[in-house]
Amino acid sequence: MKLWKKISIGLLCAGFLSQIPFLINRVKTGELAAQIEDQKARTSETSNTDYRDYKGVIHAHSFLGGHSTGTFDEVISGAQKNKLDYVVMTEHVSKHYDTSAMTLRGKNEDVLFVGGNETSTADGDRFLILSGFPGLARISRSGTNLFLSEARSKNKLAFVTYPKSFKSWDADIDGIEVFSLHTNAKSMNPVTFLLDALWSYRSYPGLTLARYFGRPAINLERFDALTKTKRLTLFAGSDAHSNIGLHLGDDSNNKYINFKFDRYETIFKLVRTHILLPKEKDLDQANLLTALKNGNAYIGVDILGDTSGFTFTAQRGNETKILGEEIRLDDEKVLLKSSAPQPSRFVIFKNGEIVYESDTTTEVSFTAKEKGAYRIEVYLDACGAPFDKMPWIISNPIYVR
Ligand SMILES: [Zn+2]
Repeated sequence: MKLWKKISIGLLCAGFLSQIPFLINRVKTGELAAQIEDQKARTSETSNTDYRDYKGVIHAHSFLGGHSTGTFDEVISGAQKNKLDYVVMTEHVSKHYDTSAMTLRGKNEDVLFVGGNETSTADGDRFLILSGFPGLARISRSGTNLFLSEARSKNKLAFVTYPKSFKSWDADIDGIEVFSLHTNAKSMNPVTFLLDALWSYRSYPGLTLARYFGRPAINLERFDALTKTKRLTLFAGSDAHSNIGLHLGDDSNNKYINFKFDRYETIFKLVRTHILLPKEKDLDQANLLTALKNGNAYIGVDILGDTSGFTFTAQRGNETKILGEEIRLDDEKVLLKSSAPQPSRFVIFKNGEIVYESDTTTEVSFTAKEKGAYRIEVYLDACGAPFDKMPWIISNPIYVR
């Protein structure tokens, strides 16, 4: 056989062999999809009778403020296809105009939109400000403490985004984006992901991305350390830009190739922040922001199964508190109770330390004998790696004081 033929056959064999791991991943992703369907059949109704669960996403960008090519129509369509109750837009600021006023706001059919901003301070700390306000670009030139006192004087929420590079941990913040799809995506090996995407993305767009999820251990550690002494909200950020992919065409919307990995429709399916509102309250901007400020919220990796209906309460005599709230511990017993819509493993943390871990079940109860911030992570071990280590649900704490 001629040398060039030998080399060609060798290269072909090497090419084929290099694809085997990605072919196996494709099979595993298919199995995961089947497993999720199977679990769906075992979903049970679990809901707190006094509260309603609203699911939505925080941290989305449109074409306003740069970085994104997404249109309002695409955002609205992505939210509607996912039956989201709310979307918090977080447009980059502009010194020339108020992007939070120009972005999607108010009710659009069934979805509530809140116009917020993303900006960083002169100290390099990055924030999501909910809702946004005119002049934010100017205030962003201040140091973090001055910036926060300005935001506070306007009654705005200041949530930390990109906690990895945040420095001013003593500052008066309202919450931390402990899980970010964008940060998670940045930790992926792009070559491995592209090859995985080649085999699996078309059939399983959301699950191809989700199989790269990892528990945000460092951010949770930071959150647990801070909530020993103060109340904060943890939440997930989508950081949806709708701008990663392959585009060929012109700027007047004639696209011959327009393939995006991060379409809003796909990104809004993956991880949501659920909020709980008392049943007598409607979902409007003020009630949504109050629930977020109070931490009446939990993170749901809904691509594995809708987490709506998850509950976490504390009971002391006739008194019942929900996640984000405080309950007093004295002679009377404080009973923590939690339930999830699918059989899963519950892990209870007190100030960041594991104090209880269940077998696979749909509800647990635990007597809190010591004061502390108690939060829950719920795992769907049946989904296999990485979801035996990446929680399906991450709750905000109940503060036993
Ligand atoms: Zn962003």
